[in-house]
Amino acid sequence: MKIGLLALQGDYARHEDIIRQLGWETQLVRYPKQLDALDGLVIPGGESTTMTKLIKASRFRAPILDFAQHASILGTCAGLIMLGNKQIDSQIDTFELINVEVERNAYGRQVFSFDEQIQVNVGDETQSITATFIRAPRITATGANVEILASHNGFPAAVRQGRHIGLTFHPELDDITLFHEFAFGRQGI
Ligand code: GLN
Repeated sequence: MKIGLLALQGDYARHEDIIRQLGWETQLVRYPKQLDALDGLVIPGGESTTMTKLIKASRFRAPILDFAQHASILGTCAGLIMLGNKQIDSQIDTFELINVEVERNAYGRQVFSFDEQIQVNVGDETQSITATFIRAPRITATGANVEILASHNGFPAAVRQGRHIGLTFHPELDDITLFHEFAFGRQGI
């Protein structure tokens, strides 16, 4: 298994550690062609306006949408914003792969970053994990076919639609492997 980290911008390096801990190969993805060799893709946290610009400049949009038809994408924080429904801000062009409304910077500025214990339901198991939120978005509505894997204060914090997963927090900062394992470890979905 080889998992790509979209490495245009953001905290992709921490995701590499998680993927390696799971025993899979990693690939920093900077050109669309690199997607051909991959079994999954992480869109990391960062800044969704900058990410939009770089995705456009590197002509990633259509190749990522094609890739999403047969492989899983895990988006964290800004990555979730990129996977969700359209944003009002025209500087952000999302992939609309997970049917969720996402409010950016819902908790305020960087100083309002925090971590908290949340309960996660993946497969048949419920686990308590530390979730680190950094200028985090909030999922304000979920559409059909969206499964909520975890919530925080009554708002979904981890969601799945088909083979794709979106998180409002940063599991890679707390060495949490379960979402990457869940996103990429299940074949044939
Ligand atoms: N606030 C960022 C955005 O709107 C997301 C923050 C993050 O990825 N940690 O894109």
